[in-house]
Amino acid sequence: MYLVATPIGNLGDISLRALGVLAECDLLFAEDTRNTLGLLDHYGISRKSQALHEHNERSIASGLILRLRQEQLSMALVSDAGTPLISDPGFPLVQAALSEGVPVRAIPGANAALTALCVSGLPTDRFIYEGFLPPREQAARSRLSALASNTRTLIFYESPRRAKQTLRIMREVFGDSRRACVCRELTKLHETHYRGNLAEIEAAIAADPFGDAGEFVLLVGPAPEEVADAREIGRVLALLSTEVSRRTAIDLTAKILGRPRNEVYTFALQDEPNA
Ligand code: SAM
Repeated sequence: MYLVATPIGNLGDISLRALGVLAECDLLFAEDTRNTLGLLDHYGISRKSQALHEHNERSIASGLILRLRQEQLSMALVSDAGTPLISDPGFPLVQAALSEGVPVRAIPGANAALTALCVSGLPTDRFIYEGFLPPREQAARSRLSALASNTRTLIFYESPRRAKQTLRIMREVFGDSRRACVCRELTKLHETHYRGNLAEIEAAIAADPFGDAGEFVLLVGPAPEEVADAREIGRVLALLSTEVSRRTAIDLTAKILGRPRNEVYTFALQDEPNA
């Protein structure tokens, strides 16, 4: 089974090996067959594909894997854009293949998250790929709050419809001054990168007449260490304070986070309503 990465915009972004596999595999499965036809036509590959998408991938996975084994067939999977399985169909199929001993090979290529990370100017040594946030604002907000003190670069996908609203929630949760980058239309004619802090980026996108057109990757820089420490102390202290005395909460917070008791005590004092 070949997992074949396809372009995320610029049709030139596909490897020779990927084109060879697409032309020669016995079965070709695509998230959207019409979309894939455009790619195949562009490269003069004349063949049909079958649909495999989030609505049928679970139901057809085991039968398909059985067929590959029994008939000794090769198959390739492509999604609409980029790398299959990355916020795209394919995971149940790979699970089924591995559990039946069918070899799985990835043909690497385009991916919007890594393309955006590389041009973002944000740290690339440690990062977290979060994919799409939950569609409901409250759920998105709590997912972001859980990430607010993380000291890695965060990468999110977002639909054009929600990009501005998500950016606003990010600014509210992470603060105006958190470094960030928004990449729009990567590898395409109107590729645009908005860099700066969250407040600056929100203003730049609001002022851009094309600011909500196209496809988006949103990246948020790591929390500064002192912000991360303070947030984490505040979070653990608040949780424990609902269960045990203030004094015990301070002791436990210091132990859990491996911080000096004095530091937590000072933090707790600043946090007192009448401090
Ligand atoms: N499998 C794909 C990959 O490897 O990147 C991602 C598929 S996911 C369904 C689609 C999302 O990826 C879009 O909503 C957008 O957030 C991001 N994306 C895809 N192509 C993009 C592009 N050219 N520019 C910016 N973001 C893109």
